[in-house]
Amino acid sequence: MVAGGGDPVDVLIVGGGHAGAQCAIALRQNGYAGSVAIVGREHEPPYERPPLSKEYFAREKSFERLYIRPPQFWEEKDIALLLGCEVVKVDPAAKQVVLSDGTMMTYGTLVWAAGGDPRRLPCAGSDLAGVHAVRTRADCDQLMGETDGGVKRVTVIGGGYIGLEAAAVLTKMGVAVTLLEAASRVLARVAGPDLSAFYEAEHRAHGVDLRTGVAVERLIGIPGGRVTGVALQDGTVVAADAVIVGIGIVPAVAPLIAAGAAGANGIDVDAFCRTSLPDVYAVGDCASFACDFADGAVMRVESVQNANDQATCVAKALCGEARPYRALPWFWSNQYDLKLQTAGISVGYDQTVLRGDPAARSFSVIYLKTGRVIALDCVNAVKDYVQGRKLVEAQACPDPGCLANDRLPLKGLA
Ligand SMILES: Cc1cc2nc3c(=O)[nH]c(=O)nc-3n(C[C@H](O)[C@H](O)[C@H](O)COP(=O)(O)OP(=O)(O)OC[C@H]3O[C@@H](n4cnc5c(N)ncnc54)[C@H](O)[C@@H]3O)c2cc1C
Repeated sequence: MVAGGGDPVDVLIVGGGHAGAQCAIALRQNGYAGSVAIVGREHEPPYERPPLSKEYFAREKSFERLYIRPPQFWEEKDIALLLGCEVVKVDPAAKQVVLSDGTMMTYGTLVWAAGGDPRRLPCAGSDLAGVHAVRTRADCDQLMGETDGGVKRVTVIGGGYIGLEAAAVLTKMGVAVTLLEAASRVLARVAGPDLSAFYEAEHRAHGVDLRTGVAVERLIGIPGGRVTGVALQDGTVVAADAVIVGIGIVPAVAPLIAAGAAGANGIDVDAFCRTSLPDVYAVGDCASFACDFADGAVMRVESVQNANDQATCVAKALCGEARPYRALPWFWSNQYDLKLQTAGISVGYDQTVLRGDPAARSFSVIYLKTGRVIALDCVNAVKDYVQGRKLVEAQACPDPGCLANDRLPLKGLA
């Protein structure tokens, strides 16, 4: 039984996204019999976010197909969902949280799985109507309502995965898309120049007006009304009926930091996802940890894989099976008919090997650091991805000439 201010909840999970949902699911899968509750700011039961910029946005999947579990699952498993409210205060000494409606709840263990909020543009006009993020179902529905309502020109700010995926879907819908990226290439934060060049060419070939190395000065519009354009620092103005801002997230950790948890870029956690506060864990996009697959560099990993695996790690620890978190990071992105699959973290690479043929739209970029395979980006190359991730896990140092030869399976090179 979960009751505000009444009996303590044994495991109180903050955030009903991938990590929060998976933590509750894994607790029950591992036989956990105590009370479990999820407090979630959004109104829907936990759902998958990746399709928001892909199949859901393209109307290929209904929202009901995005549920992580059918809505009745949570009741069947005796997992309380407290939706449409958020945790605004944490008292780690009393082991209590306060919700946005004033309810106080006491916990045995707190799992912070609050993800992140879209980073806002730090310029004038960012609050105009028609300026959108793509993080929640509500964001996406609003945007879809506008495209249904006749929006014909959309400017996407940010050439990361979300911006590029949105650009691909919009272009297919016949919307004229301009994509603005401040860096000298798209995907600069997560991939090497070969991959960036490939995706830039693809988007341009599909009609996207893709501009790199451009700085947004302000958004133009009727004050208190709709956006009508984007003014760039070089004096250019790009006309727009709507704007999508995809410039990353800010970890949603303020209440936990205010409670004294260590952290700067997210909440710091140790190898078991424990924060510096007693009986408080953090998992998913908001957790900052030393990543074994990046030579121990401290980072947040924004992926479904990381959210699910860290959540499972915590659930197991709470069931008496504590093991350090060590999972190979992996990620995917769908744009047009291109399926990108990545494994490992490419940060710090000193050599890349191109395998396959970008012109044939099937290839892989393999990242090496002092001869060791640390990551792969595989485009329409599932076999490379499946076999190549084993090279990363094995810390293999194959001959680069062999890696480049796509007649030799990666499997044999470990
Ligand atoms: C459009 C889009 C496409 C993506 N595509 C991919 C992809 O192709 N592959 C991939 O691996 N990853 C993808 N991701 C990233 C992936 O969805 C995230 O890494 C994952 O959702 C992280 O899970 P999480 O539980 O940590 O955070 P979230 O899923 O963001 O969930 C956190 C939840 O906590 C809530 N919350 C925040 N603060 C509070 C509070 N104080 N109290 C209560 N609730 C709170 C939030 O509202 C949110 O519902 C995509 C993300 C987006 C937005």
